[in-house]
Amino acid sequence: DGNYHGHSDGLLAAAGSGVATLALPGTAGVPASVAETTLVVPYGDLDAVREVFAARGDDIAAIIVEAAPANMGVIEPPAGFNSALADIAHDAGALLIVDEVLTGFRVHPAGEWGRQVDAGFGYTPDILTYGKVVGGGMPLAALGGSREVMEQLAPTGPVYQAGTLSGNPLSVAAGLKTLELATPAVYEHLDAAADRVIADLTSALSGEGVAHSISRVGSLFGLAFLADKPGDYQQAKTQDAHRFTPFFHAMLEQGVNLPPSVYEAWFVTAAHDDEALSRITDALPAAARAAAA
Ligand SMILES: *Cc1c(COP(=O)(O)O)cnc(C)c1O
Repeated sequence: DGNYHGHSDGLLAAAGSGVATLALPGTAGVPASVAETTLVVPYGDLDAVREVFAARGDDIAAIIVEAAPANMGVIEPPAGFNSALADIAHDAGALLIVDEVLTGFRVHPAGEWGRQVDAGFGYTPDILTYGKVVGGGMPLAALGGSREVMEQLAPTGPVYQAGTLSGNPLSVAAGLKTLELATPAVYEHLDAAADRVIADLTSALSGEGVAHSISRVGSLFGLAFLADKPGDYQQAKTQDAHRFTPFFHAMLEQGVNLPPSVYEAWFVTAAHDDEALSRITDALPAAARAAAA
């Protein structure tokens, strides 16, 4: 619930930021017969996942989950959550698809999967999906998985996959160059830039007495106008979301273009140098006053 996996009919059920911002229950145009092939459970609730598997396990092909959710605001995955999902799926003969479109190559050189392995919660997903950073700003997406799964794709297997932009040489060149330039120093810079923005954001909002929390996954973070970090979509939706509009516009008037919804994650980049970060620092107090008002 609240995870977003792209513009694919069966996965637009309860799908996070775009629909959250517009207060849509799902989306029009998806036949019920397609939507009902996706079972939605609350994020972070392993008992709910086990219940669904107990009831429908024989019918379930796969679990799909964001490696760390970042389309309902950022939610910090409970420790070991993804590895527990892997166990539940594998015990039932199902696959685990881990969506790293947003986190891949961003929060760690090996994505959120790598961060969780480093934290002692290693697991083996069957399919990993990538987008965004992997194309270095050009339109590109990628997927990978075990040999057994990948051999199902045409031409070695029966699953057709193709597209006008598939393997687009310009996008692939930009993506490869980006990954080559994403050195350990870049990741250190991203973490430090996130530290700074988070510290400034906290002090500006606290200074105005605005109840808020900041959830963080590596250099990726999200603001919620809620005193405690939300753990799932239902909690995220209880925040004072109306504070975001004046906050956003006060930042924009000062030349800082934030993500345009409180349910979107904040990204820092290698281009956020000291001067750029100082502009953010300088803009925050007025925005915090606007949010408080
Ligand atoms: C952006 C995003 C996608 C990609 O969706 P598209 O329809 O390809 O834009 C998929 N998953 C996650 C987690 C995303 O953030």
